[in-house]
Amino acid sequence: MIEAHQLTRRYGDFTAVDGISFAVPEGEIVGMLGPNGAGKTTAIRMMTGFLPPSSGRVTVGGRDLFADPVAAKREIGYLPENVALYPEMRVEEYLAYRARLEGLERAAARRAIASALDRCLIADVRRQVIGTLSKGYRQRVGLAAAILHDPKVLVLDEPTVGLDPKQIVAIRELIRELGGRHTLLLSTHILPEVELLCRRVVIIDRGRIVAEGSPEALRERWLGTSQVRIGFAGAPPDPGAAAAALGALPGVEAVRAEGPETVHLECAAGADPRPEAFRLAVERGWTLRELAMEKASLEDLFVRLTTREEGAGEPAAGSAEEVAS
Ligand code: ATP
Repeated sequence: MIEAHQLTRRYGDFTAVDGISFAVPEGEIVGMLGPNGAGKTTAIRMMTGFLPPSSGRVTVGGRDLFADPVAAKREIGYLPENVALYPEMRVEEYLAYRARLEGLERAAARRAIASALDRCLIADVRRQVIGTLSKGYRQRVGLAAAILHDPKVLVLDEPTVGLDPKQIVAIRELIRELGGRHTLLLSTHILPEVELLCRRVVIIDRGRIVAEGSPEALRERWLGTSQVRIGFAGAPPDPGAAAAALGALPGVEAVRAEGPETVHLECAAGADPRPEAFRLAVERGWTLRELAMEKASLEDLFVRLTTREEGAGEPAAGSAEEVAS
């Protein structure tokens, strides 16, 4: 329904979004997950036609967003990260103003406003001044404005940021409800949010897609993998050589040092290099304090994909991981 094709955005020498391609199929809720500064807002602003890409393109229902912006934008409802509401306006007034901007006729606008008030559960505050509403309610008003023209696609940028836990639960419920009628793309840096809401997740870091798939598939794939934590009683005399020897053990995919006396071995699914690691330690004369197997969680995956050691160029997983959903 909405697709990014090799979408890139540069600010001077800095590449904020670097050739991302992904699709949000009709009727699905897709989450774009990434740490602060990953490029989510930049990607979303390009996908909603608010920011021209440096290269690449976006299609909405097969239409090129930049070649045919009026028609393509009609299919999109957008809730920006910091939604600009007019605090002195009443809710209903604001929605009428937004309906006019959307070009809705008077009668159609009246119907659309009534329906949006109803669907976003704000009919009881319709006459309230926006500036006096709680942040959760203001977010509902933003969502109501975004659905006035009944767009096929709703794009929400960090829709729960700055809300208290109760408001977060309520807005997520509303998003889920809206997902029943609209194709939905939402950005977030909150992992449980995508697990709760999304059929598919695209993990983005430093402008690139580093993994994508259903949360279950990502979890299944990565829960199958494990890490072995090795604690040395006194650092090995040559840590580089120790890391290289451990990295060469069967089933070990990467070695990550956590201080001089602890290393983590990232292992292939099903691998258990502990006996070989123990033999190696005896051979090399390392005294072990600990040799423990740890299962990875989805949280670990996110950290692992989006965190890198100081000075290292790429996240641990390297290129994009496609996980069948
Ligand atoms: P957050 O979750 O913090 O909003 P994000 O994933 O949405 O982060 P972006 O806002 O897209 O990230 O920013 C991506 C990178 O691009 C950041 O390093 C940011 O500083 C940079 N950036 C964004 N807008 C501009 C701009 N107008 N000029 C220069 N750099 C920019």
